[in-house]
Amino acid sequence: MSNCAIVGINWGDEGKGRMVDLLTEEYDVVIRYQGGGNAGHTVINECGKFALHLLPSGVFRKGVMNVLGNGVALDMENLWNEIVSVSSQGVPITPDNLIISERASLLLPWHRELDGLEEARLADKKYGSTKQGIAPFYADKYQKKTILAGELFYPERLKEHVKDLAEWKNLTLTRVYGAEAWTEERLLDWFREYGEKIKPFIGNTGKYLSDAMSNGKNMLFEAQLGSLRDLDFGICPYTTSSNTIAAYAPIGAGVPAAKIDKVIGVVKAYSTCVGEGPFTCEWFGEEAEKLREAGFEYGAKTGRPRRVGPIDIVATRYGIEVQGATSIALTKLDVLSYMDKIPVCARYEVNGQKTDEFPFPALLPQAKPVMIELPGWKCDISGARKWEDLPENARNYVEYIEKNIGCRIGYVSVGPERDSIIYR
Ligand code: GDP
Repeated sequence: MSNCAIVGINWGDEGKGRMVDLLTEEYDVVIRYQGGGNAGHTVINECGKFALHLLPSGVFRKGVMNVLGNGVALDMENLWNEIVSVSSQGVPITPDNLIISERASLLLPWHRELDGLEEARLADKKYGSTKQGIAPFYADKYQKKTILAGELFYPERLKEHVKDLAEWKNLTLTRVYGAEAWTEERLLDWFREYGEKIKPFIGNTGKYLSDAMSNGKNMLFEAQLGSLRDLDFGICPYTTSSNTIAAYAPIGAGVPAAKIDKVIGVVKAYSTCVGEGPFTCEWFGEEAEKLREAGFEYGAKTGRPRRVGPIDIVATRYGIEVQGATSIALTKLDVLSYMDKIPVCARYEVNGQKTDEFPFPALLPQAKPVMIELPGWKCDISGARKWEDLPENARNYVEYIEKNIGCRIGYVSVGPERDSIIYR
């Protein structure tokens, strides 16, 4: 038995979905343990091209069970739309390959609405929400103003609970934001519409997973976003509202006693960031445009152009530390093939002092990148499948990063397809 977490080391969008899709071959169960449909994992394989938001990336492998743990933000409406969309592309999603924790809290339509209302109130001070209701959802969960998925099986209790919550939430909607109140009937209609569709998938995932552990099954924990978006260890307040780090995986999955044997951290060969907040190595203008186009850096969920820049060794080393990564998958190396010289943000300078430490969030806006350049390779490497197939300068770039981030790079990805990978 071996348990592995696949996590993002930076701002997210590192290519975790692609790595989970590849590595599920060795695992029996894939579990999403945090977050909601606010990000997107793009997966390209023999079934086609998919943008997954909440579904675990193990859905493409026959015989793999996929689990949405208690730690996720369960938006039944969006999940159902995703199930329909993926199924219509020829990948059936049924209770035979997806179980949802009865302890997962439900993201309700007013959470999405509240995100929009709060962003409008913040105006130019906004944090860059994807307006999927994630922050209001987790705030309510921690206030225990939440409905658990398993309550769908107790209609009388659910009705009472919905009534109480609507009374409470309408105070905020109407008095704080001047918005329209949700009637109990309208909410119950929503529950009737989506609850019935999602109910067959709901079960006791805690029991399922501890049985799986006892039977020696291999479990893969799939994270969303990356270290720098972690609620506790990320760049506050530009974080998400859940813990993206591997240490949270057993809790959010529903097997708090599980031991994680391997943590594979996914790092892109350059940096990207969606949304607001400090991004020390950011490029602007033409060079940014070129890199964005080369890597097709547009949000899977929102279509927003991603902010781009060279790889940031300081942020990456920090991200690896908080994840406890045991090996690294370096993705999108092929994207850098057009560059004569490959810039690397090797250190930061903060208030005139050079540093290798990732600064406290309040100091981060003052950090300036200290850049070095490595020679480029200027040829197509997307067909490389062995380490020796890579040109020397590409190997030198990977080795330079490995040495400076202090973690073994075990996989180098040179294309989005499942087999565009070099094992080291
Ligand atoms: P995730 O949220 O971490 O799974 O990342 P995204 O799916 O948002 O972004 C990764 C994007 O890069 C997807 O469109 C992938 O298909 C693509 N991708 C992943 N690995 C590679 C690679 O090695 N090379 C290229 N060119 N594209 C890649």
